[in-house]
Amino acid sequence: MKGLLLLSGGLDSSLAGKLLLEQGVELVALHLESPFGCDTSADDMARELRIPLIRRPKGDRFIEILKHPAHGYGSVKNPCVDCRILMFTLGREVMQETGAGFLVTGEVVGQRPLSQKKQAMTLIDREAGMEGQVVRPLSARILPETHPEKRGWVDRKRLMSLSGRSRKPQLALARTFGFSRVPSPAGGCLLTDDNFRERLDDFVRFDEAPAVAPLLRFGRHYRFDDTWVVVGRDVADNARLDALIPDCGMGFHPSGFNGPGVFFPDPLPPNMEEIATGALHVFTKDIPEDPLPLDAVHGEERYRVFFSSPGEDSPWRDPAHWRAHWRH
Ligand code: SF4
Repeated sequence: MKGLLLLSGGLDSSLAGKLLLEQGVELVALHLESPFGCDTSADDMARELRIPLIRRPKGDRFIEILKHPAHGYGSVKNPCVDCRILMFTLGREVMQETGAGFLVTGEVVGQRPLSQKKQAMTLIDREAGMEGQVVRPLSARILPETHPEKRGWVDRKRLMSLSGRSRKPQLALARTFGFSRVPSPAGGCLLTDDNFRERLDDFVRFDEAPAVAPLLRFGRHYRFDDTWVVVGRDVADNARLDALIPDCGMGFHPSGFNGPGVFFPDPLPPNMEEIATGALHVFTKDIPEDPLPLDAVHGEERYRVFFSSPGEDSPWRDPAHWRAHWRH
């Protein structure tokens, strides 16, 4: 009976898969993509483990969970218990498609305060309709026996009994298995990143649409009540935002002079002209005379506009005004 491995691309889920492969269990990997587009090594680790990888989006259901987590947040803006219930629910659907008989995760008892306590694991399995069907190879021997172990699909004696937050046993195991690369421990979930917290707070507070979620990863973010402005940090940032904005807002790039892209997620504010040109006065060294030539990006369209700058006493030309509304 094959298992479905929830592969984040982090170290623990990769080791969990390896432990089962070593005892001859067949695995298929499932990577669930965040709407925020988290960085991941899932492809590399599936190749390392030599197992097929299926990718699926966590989708809008994840945004709903982020905004209204029934079981609360972790230490940052991470709704881990509800996120895992969603992941197991999506995993159950993919198990049916692939004919897998159980789910495999890299969870370690006590590693994260909220979602990896034993009681939380029981609750998550129950609410996802997966009781007895989730094998956690890194901690299996200190957890109740699961159906796959009882049926002999998985040899419990060859699983581990890790608990707590130390990473040393996992690093030692990765060396023993001869992994050619050691991925980051957590798999790169941005929701656990403290630097991301202010942006997420705003995203939740202003009840932003799921479509704008990918923008949160890039640029400098500014909030002026319900007006949200993103300013590219460098050339690469401008390019990433430029690729995303057609689906969820409008952007302006300087034409014929150097400066950052200025992006407006939907819904667009009525005074984009003065905000965009004000931003260029604040973030550009050598700005030409008015009207400023800009390349507008909106949906499928790209076209040239000529915008007038706001007056010199406008707050939009005041660096302190922008600094005061910086959300990192
Ligand atoms: S760390 Fe991120 S991906 Fe993992 S359970 Fe928590 S919210 Fe979900």
